[in-house]
Amino acid sequence: FAPEIASPEVLPGDDEATLRPKRLAEFVGQHRVREQLELVLQGATRRGVPPDHVLLSGPPGLGKTSLAMIIAAELGSALRLTSGPALERAGDLAAMLSNLVEGDVLFIDEIHRMARPAEEMLYLAMEDFRVDVVVGKGPGATSIPLEIAPFTLVGATTRSGSLTGPLRDRFGFTAHMEFYSASDLDKVLRRSAGILGVDLRPDGAEEIAGRSRGTPRIANRLLRRVRDFAEVRADGVVTKDIAHSALAVYDVDELGLDRLDRAVLGALVRSFGGGPVGVSTLAVAVGEEPSTVEEVCEPYLVRAGMLARTPRGRVATAAAWSHMGLLPPATAPG
Ligand code: ATP
Repeated sequence: FAPEIASPEVLPGDDEATLRPKRLAEFVGQHRVREQLELVLQGATRRGVPPDHVLLSGPPGLGKTSLAMIIAAELGSALRLTSGPALERAGDLAAMLSNLVEGDVLFIDEIHRMARPAEEMLYLAMEDFRVDVVVGKGPGATSIPLEIAPFTLVGATTRSGSLTGPLRDRFGFTAHMEFYSASDLDKVLRRSAGILGVDLRPDGAEEIAGRSRGTPRIANRLLRRVRDFAEVRADGVVTKDIAHSALAVYDVDELGLDRLDRAVLGALVRSFGGGPVGVSTLAVAVGEEPSTVEEVCEPYLVRAGMLARTPRGRVATAAAWSHMGLLPPATAPG
């Protein structure tokens, strides 16, 4: 694990990097994924080969990047980071692949956004540790095979459904990351408070955990905002009352829904009578990209029982109407 390659530079006050769990044992929650991953890593280590390629799938902020770093750390390998949108041309990927050293872990974030030619090159690289580099254009173009060092690809995606079949099939293991329970978020918060030196009381942690949308990144962000409030307006101790008052200032409601979540629910119930409405129409109504509404907002609204995805479009549930302070129509799904 080479920190000079793997960790983004730690800037003073950059809590995000200091709060990242570094080893599997520090990674809170996701017990199933952890157990499965442990087996994949230990099995490969015993056989002395790089592990199968790993796909990490789930909504943003659940720890995909952290897990990729942990995989490299557990293997004692270097981590190379890139992202789907950065791999616009096959040449970009070829350059990255040809620089790999045996056993390296290559992390491609947002792998579903990779350009098609790069993706096709990746198939061969994943399967045969080889790429075909095309030199020249038109009838004179030739393809030069290039050996690459055996490596492990770790891909992360917020939408595994939009990965092409051939790419998905080449991953030996797919980890489906779930939203975290309040008790796991409580552990994340206590760990972070310890690292940041925040005096977080159990009832304060519980209050923040309940409003973190099942997401560790949000839990950590809320902890930092509550810490500010506690230090500026009180004695620095984070109790339930302090957390409550601080989160009211930042417009985080009791379910942890933020402005965008509430805008989506508001548009759904007020402008579209509770649906069904298509995601693109909904996105226009709140001034966002459909992909943001689909990948960032909706997974949590579905899990919170506020929104249903139906073949005819998005529908508000009775809970969504009441959460927005309105009476649900008789037709709203329970
Ligand atoms: P994105 O795909 O949006 O980049 P991500 O799923 O890769 O998100 P990370 O960047 O890995 O998420 O995690 C965000 C932050 O949440 C980390 O910096 C870390 O502090 C915290 N975190 C995530 N998962 C865990 C965990 N299981 N235990 C402790 N902290 C965690």
